[in-house]
Amino acid sequence: MPIKLVILDRDGVINLDSDNYIRTLQQWIAIPSSIQAIAELSRSGYSIAVATNQSGIGRGYYDLATLEAMHQKMIALVEAEGGKIDKIVFCPHLDEDHCHCRKPKPGMLQQILNEFGAQPSNTYFVGDSLRDLQAAWAINMPAALVKTGKGQRTLDKTALPESTLVFEDLADFSRHLLAANC
Ligand SMILES: [Mg+2]
Ligand SMILES: [Zn+2]
Repeated sequence: MPIKLVILDRDGVINLDSDNYIRTLQQWIAIPSSIQAIAELSRSGYSIAVATNQSGIGRGYYDLATLEAMHQKMIALVEAEGGKIDKIVFCPHLDEDHCHCRKPKPGMLQQILNEFGAQPSNTYFVGDSLRDLQAAWAINMPAALVKTGKGQRTLDKTALPESTLVFEDLADFSRHLLAANC
């Protein structure tokens, strides 16, 4: 059986986003229905990974210990719902660093695929920004845009291909995926 993998952007998908960066543990506020959706996907046999741009690290807005605390909180919330986050990958760089991991580059997605032995065609990446979609498209991975976070703004300002999958939120995506009609 090929592995079933869902990769998620973090800010605006799993937790509320901010235009001013999520800098403290207190500012990291989960979207409750997203936590439940992750747990449900996990309990249904999906592996769950997170791929998140965190240039606030490179900018010095918060440190690795703070980022780790946010992620422990996220992991604990999902575990409390009976699910599991299997992997978290982050990019600490800025655009001018020209790394291979910062979305829209697909480096983090590629790394996750390699670690899980998964195929891009059998994986979904869910995000709220054009950068997320572009990272997935770069390696022919199906991408879904959610309207939470910057998602509605992304829809309003971008002419997306008609075939782009758009969902209200992660819970809506999860419902469709589990009903196998994405
Ligand atoms: Mg985001
Ligand atoms: Zn990077």
